[in-house]
Amino acid sequence: MRTLGRYLGYGAVLLAFPLVQVLAPLVAGRDLPELAYYLMLTASGLACLAAVAALRWPSYDRRTMACLALGLACWVAGMGYAIARSGTEQNLISTYVLFVSFGLPLLYAAVATRDEPTTPARRVVDGALLILLVILCYLGVRDLSDGNGFLKNEDMVWVVVAFDVENVFLFLTFLIRTFAAQDEKEYRFFRLTTIFLGLYALSAGIHNHDELYPDLPVLRQLADVLPTLPFAALLCLLHHGRTPRAFDPAGRLWARQLAAGFAPGLLLAAIFALSLGIRDSQGMFGRIVMALAMLCYVVRVVQTQFWFAATRDRLSDALTAVERVSLLDELTGIPNRRAFEQAFAERVREASRDGKPISALMIDVDLFKTFNDTRGHPEGDIALKAVARLLAGALRRPADFIARYGGEEFIALLPLAPAEGAQVVARRMTRAVYDALLEYDHGIDGRVTVSIGVATAVSADARDLVRHADQALYLAKSAGRNRYATSGEPEVALPLPG
Ligand code: GH3
Ligand code: MG
Ligand code: MG
Repeated sequence: MRTLGRYLGYGAVLLAFPLVQVLAPLVAGRDLPELAYYLMLTASGLACLAAVAALRWPSYDRRTMACLALGLACWVAGMGYAIARSGTEQNLISTYVLFVSFGLPLLYAAVATRDEPTTPARRVVDGALLILLVILCYLGVRDLSDGNGFLKNEDMVWVVVAFDVENVFLFLTFLIRTFAAQDEKEYRFFRLTTIFLGLYALSAGIHNHDELYPDLPVLRQLADVLPTLPFAALLCLLHHGRTPRAFDPAGRLWARQLAAGFAPGLLLAAIFALSLGIRDSQGMFGRIVMALAMLCYVVRVVQTQFWFAATRDRLSDALTAVERVSLLDELTGIPNRRAFEQAFAERVREASRDGKPISALMIDVDLFKTFNDTRGHPEGDIALKAVARLLAGALRRPADFIARYGGEEFIALLPLAPAEGAQVVARRMTRAVYDALLEYDHGIDGRVTVSIGVATAVSADARDLVRHADQALYLAKSAGRNRYATSGEPEVALPLPG
């Protein structure tokens, strides 16, 4: 019921201005030629106030909403000034400057993507650039003046075309930004502004090109009041978007790439388009403004490049940190199974290439289940950490590698180590854990001990080395634990991939 009421309200807002335009002259009993202008002023003024109010609504992004409010304020000022100065019968130059300026803050909103820095320095540069663009726009339009501040009639056709181009350009830019939206606030803002700009381009086009349709009084009256439609629609859309709703960002990569790729170029295009209006008559001043606008643009590009470089470095540092963490075992701090798989593939490939031996030790803590059952998991964790430290300390060569294989099992990889060398290390490891005397009532000799399976291969199949070490571990366990055993199988020489 409330929803229906809301939509009826929106309908009333949309129809109010055309109804007043048609009915007021009938009630007054005479023509009201300036009524449409007052209605446009009212509609745009209300839309501007709504945009200002929306700055405080959490469902919109303040920065982009401020751009919309500023653009609308330019439009309202243009219309207000026109009514105040000329009674709208003639075309005041300053009015046109304000009407064109309406698009500049909007352009800025479309250009400011996430691939841009948001520092105060950047805002200063952007603010300066916007002001310079307005001055360029003023200088360009000033030359179209008849000397009394009014637009020459023969130039009117160009101004109308320029408006059409600006409106369609803004509409398309906002449409792409809507597709490229990455979060709900962005999507909401760009969608409503796209609808507004589409309606604006259409109604301003019909309003400005009165040569295109028959000269009927009713038609003319409606065309006159048509530009109220986008502002009334904007009022409704802003109100409608007040309540945040769930948003699922669409995976439109093409739109995001298009928006990010074109964003910086759009400002350059605006500088270029407005510079076209700069002629000799503007003298030194015109050229200085143009040069300053270009300078702002260059500073902007440099800022973006610095930002990109800093962002890239931050990302690569973060990636390195993430990679490091992802290869370490959380509990013991030594490399984890993933790191082992990587190291294993690399070292086995090296060993097979050079025809050198490689040994693996599969290490398992003895009777550890009972340790946990009797002493509890936290103490079990402490013991595991101690064992890991002792095992790692037993390795002497830089190429030696130890990882937690899973649970209370560890695996060591000894490149270049023949069977005898691997046994020396295995003996050193069992000894180190035994001598550390980690107390454990149900353990062998009242302490924590380990059993180790040793396997050595020259150019062995990767899987076989680990399997043989595992088999050897089983032998060590059945032989009484707290010892190492070697795999009974002979060394195998299989061709290796790579
Ligand atoms: P065996 O001598 O035959 O190896 O006996 P075991 O009890 O060590 O063998 P089993 O594989 O059955 O038990 C392994 C136990 O290791 C099970 C679990 O309680 C313990 N364990 C595995 N991972 C962890 C861990 O991260 N922390 C702790 N505290 N205990 C673990
Ligand atoms: Mg085990
Ligand atoms: Mg065990």
